[in-house]
Amino acid sequence: MSIQINQQKCVGCGQCMEVCPGTLIEKEQGKAVMRYPRDCWGCASCVKECPVGAIGFFLGADIGGNGSVMTVTKDGQILHWNIHKSNGREVTIDVDRRSSNKY
Ligand code: SF4
Ligand code: SF4
Repeated sequence: MSIQINQQKCVGCGQCMEVCPGTLIEKEQGKAVMRYPRDCWGCASCVKECPVGAIGFFLGADIGGNGSVMTVTKDGQILHWNIHKSNGREVTIDVDRRSSNKY
C-alpha cells in the first residue's frame, strides 16, 4: 500500500512530511517526494493534510479498491474523498470533519 505524489500539483508546503509517522516523505527541489514506498502502511494522514489534493492513495485489491486511486480535497470542514477508478469513473464521498469521529 502506498501513495503517489503529483509533482505538478505539489506546492511544497511540507505538511505531508510533518504528519507522516514514518518520516517517509522528503523534499527535493521544492517538491515532496515519496522516498520509501515499501514502508508506507497506508494511514492516509498525508493524503488528508495535503491542501491541494496532490497525494493519491492507492486502493489495492486487498481492500476492494481494484487499483483505484483516492485523493482528498477540502472545502472548509468538508472533506471530499475522490475515488478515481481504474475504469475511468469517479466517485466522491463527502465527510464532515466535525462528525467524522462521532459514534
Ligand atoms: S499514508 Fe501514512 S505512512 Fe504512508 S506516506 Fe502517508 S502519512 Fe506516511
Ligand atoms: S502536503 Fe501536498 S502540497 Fe504540501 S508538500 Fe506534501 S504533496 Fe506537496
